[in-house]
Amino acid sequence: QKGIAQTDPELWTAMQQETTRQEDHIELIASENYASPAVMEAQGSQLTNKYAEGYPGKRYYGGCEHVDVVEDLAIERLKKLFGAEAANVQPNSGSQANQAVFFALLQPGDTIMGLSLAEGGHLTHGMPLNMSGKWFNVVSYGLNKEEAIDYDQVEALAREHKPKIIIAGASAYALRIDFERFAKIAKEVGAYFMVDMAHYAGLIAAGVYPNPVPHADVCTSTTHKSLRGPRGGIILMKEELAKKINSAIFPGIQGGPLMHVIAGKAVAFHEALQPSFKEYQQQVVLNAKALAETLVERGLRIVSGRTESHVMLVDLRAKGITGKAAEAALGNAHITVNKNAIPNDPEKPFVTSGIRLGSPAMTTRGFKEEQARAVGHLIADVLENPEDEATLATVRAKVKELTSQFPVYK
Ligand code: PLP
Repeated sequence: QKGIAQTDPELWTAMQQETTRQEDHIELIASENYASPAVMEAQGSQLTNKYAEGYPGKRYYGGCEHVDVVEDLAIERLKKLFGAEAANVQPNSGSQANQAVFFALLQPGDTIMGLSLAEGGHLTHGMPLNMSGKWFNVVSYGLNKEEAIDYDQVEALAREHKPKIIIAGASAYALRIDFERFAKIAKEVGAYFMVDMAHYAGLIAAGVYPNPVPHADVCTSTTHKSLRGPRGGIILMKEELAKKINSAIFPGIQGGPLMHVIAGKAVAFHEALQPSFKEYQQQVVLNAKALAETLVERGLRIVSGRTESHVMLVDLRAKGITGKAAEAALGNAHITVNKNAIPNDPEKPFVTSGIRLGSPAMTTRGFKEEQARAVGHLIADVLENPEDEATLATVRAKVKELTSQFPVYK
């Protein structure tokens, strides 16, 4: 059998170029990571061929005896990793995990509460163009003057609006979230408490960020961010909600589960249960801190003043550059980031005054604090001279040195 290189060179070229980009550029997108060869082996396996609608032991297709073992392994490992009563490993994405929870627990028109998108929340927590914003009455909470979640506001809004569900979790929030406080508020107003831990899941699994599972009725996550698995979603829940939520995934919003991806999830959960994963996540946090401190030394402001996780938002206004221009200039220097609105951003969402940086991917390739600090200086060099070709060439050369020293896939 011929490989893609022979049968489809046009596609192969693009795939090879992407592989090279991932090796040669410093990846700072906070929601990305490098999955292990074992995770990718599972995803590229024959399991992609199998239909398995239903759940282990209760399928609507024959020949599921082996994929049942795969899915059971994934479920058991996932429950162990987070101390959950029940788990669903079938969501095709983080968004679908959230959608299924809403489908299971809410009716159209119900009130939901989540962190506003402009202050770090995710689309699926009530953004007007998202299904969550179109089908539900959204009450958003935000940050206080210190740019921390305003728990007093959450409490006041919850008492006033009596939401059916309160969502904690974020896409661009650097501090620890007080899940206990959220749970108390939800309980008082009779709301379900849901945590979308997509960003923090790997840190939580390793015990370096608070675990929401004991406090929440349901936790959703992606598997491909700090957790370092294949692209996909998961749901952890109290046993009493399992039947409802499982039915919301299938037959509610999905058909056949992606068994090759579920195998990849099982591999990733096994990896996350090893002692080396704890060391990795500790380093993720140390690297984020070193990067943030270096940027502050170089005159930039970190939203909330610091990071307590893998992620940080950088306020670029001191350097007189927008998020859009910074993303492009850093891209030219082979440092990949995304522009991101900062709280009360004066710029439009497609321009912004900030960038979001994360340490999971650079830590996977072996960077320690020394390299994280070096990356901070390279970023500041570019932001101070975004259009100077000589600066960009110097930074590119230094990036090349770092990435060659720490290859991702040997
Ligand atoms: N929830 C949060 C907090 C996220 O940050 C993201 C992705 O960025 C998602 C959900 C959605 O995940 P997916 O892109 O897999 O739908």
